[in-house]
Amino acid sequence: MLKFIGSGSAFNTKLGNNSAYFKAGNQMLLIDCGSNIFHRIKENNLLEGIEHIHVLITHTHADHVGSLADFIFYSYYCHGEMAKPNVSVYAVHDVKIEELLIMNGINPEVHCLTKKFQSDTQYSLNFCNVLFERSSHVKEIPSYSIELCIDDKLIYYTGDTNSLKASLGTPHESGKAYDYVYVDTCKADYEGNVHLSLRKLSELVRPDLRPIFWCMHLDESFDRQEAESLGFNVVKNEF
Ligand SMILES: [Zn+2]
Repeated sequence: MLKFIGSGSAFNTKLGNNSAYFKAGNQMLLIDCGSNIFHRIKENNLLEGIEHIHVLITHTHADHVGSLADFIFYSYYCHGEMAKPNVSVYAVHDVKIEELLIMNGINPEVHCLTKKFQSDTQYSLNFCNVLFERSSHVKEIPSYSIELCIDDKLIYYTGDTNSLKASLGTPHESGKAYDYVYVDTCKADYEGNVHLSLRKLSELVRPDLRPIFWCMHLDESFDRQEAESLGFNVVKNEF
């Protein structure tokens, strides 16, 4: 459903920073824009035919926002009509994305459009519905998961997290039937890990529920075959 520009963790330079996208006509949805994502967008000509980009931000770690300012400036000056904003940035108000962009020299409402959302509240964008939910990641900054509804498909994207909300393990009781669940999953497994290990994911998700789960944000030692043999899917970069 979603495609991935990068599917790696912060230090997995081979797979690139984790960032998903979806194109609908001349509109594009982008989730996060980490340090090496602008480079990959440009090198793979991903903006061809796109007039407006809607960027959802999960949190402000550099592997999720590191090249967002470059991407906005590029879109403003070099893509589409010169000096006309064609990027909208959406985040929950406490993520402080506007402040970060201003520090980068971006003038919100000139170079791009920004929209501050409330968590646990559904918003409609052009071609999808979006709802941010707080995730469990690090104590320094807030981090969010995203529920998306696109073409009648219900998608859950955990963003960075070290746990899963209980209802993902008990979908029949919660009444929410997700079609796709994208989960931050890593091989690293230690006390205090701010990401979710494959071992822990396996404990939280029964085998019969695993076909809708897609591992993403993979660390360098992540074993794709191991995850697949456990019944999970693993995302691949796709342009
Ligand atoms: Zn993070």
